Amino acid sequence: MALLDPLLEVQDLDLQADRLSKERVELPERAALLACEAELRENERLVVGVQARLDELARDERAVAGEVSTVAAGAKDVEERLYSGSVTAPKELESLQDELRLTREKQAGFEERELEIMEQIEGQEGELAGLAERCGDAEGRAGELQQAICDAEKRIDGEIEVLTEKREAPLSTLPAAFTERYAALRDKPRLNGKAAVGLDGGLCLGCRVSLPRVDLSRILAEAEDALVPCPHCSRLLVR
Ligand SMILES: [Zn+2]
Repeated sequence: MALLDPLLEVQDLDLQADRLSKERVELPERAALLACEAELRENERLVVGVQARLDELARDERAVAGEVSTVAAGAKDVEERLYSGSVTAPKELESLQDELRLTREKQAGFEERELEIMEQIEGQEGELAGLAERCGDAEGRAGELQQAICDAEKRIDGEIEVLTEKREAPLSTLPAAFTERYAALRDKPRLNGKAAVGLDGGLCLGCRVSLPRVDLSRILAEAEDALVPCPHCSRLLVR
């Protein structure tokens, strides 16, 4: 086995770990959880609105109920006077009858309004129940998604740990200069984690550029433990 072959082995394990880290960040459950949380916030906002309308309707209902009892009491007074026998003059009786009719009409008007308000309250309460149900659904889904994320993270972390342990053996056979340069190149975003590459004939397997014959001859003439970067992409060439 050539001196630098373990470097390619380390590189392969590191790329597998990179893919797993990316998978960990991009778990589809994360986006679904965000959507679920947004849904819950929107639901809360709607609940606040419905609750405010209900409070307002309850105030209206109390006010109208007060009007109903006041008017009903007034009607009862008129009725009592009308049938008490103390009023006998036909004109006065007629006037009391008119007053009673008008008061009863007024009462009926308030009662109708009260019924309307109660129907509206019922409607808003139905809305609130629907929102509570949707909120329960979304909370259930959010819990399942959190659990799925947690499970996936645990699985991925375990797989990354195995890869990290596996790279120790090949890494320990490499000269320090190589591992240091390799680590530094791995940090360069433009290289996408690919810091050490093979050379296939004159082709750099990192940037896929064919090296000119003169460069290739120079590179192949280098000592086995020399650090040789690709003149195009600067990746370490394993030859
Ligand atoms: Zn290259």
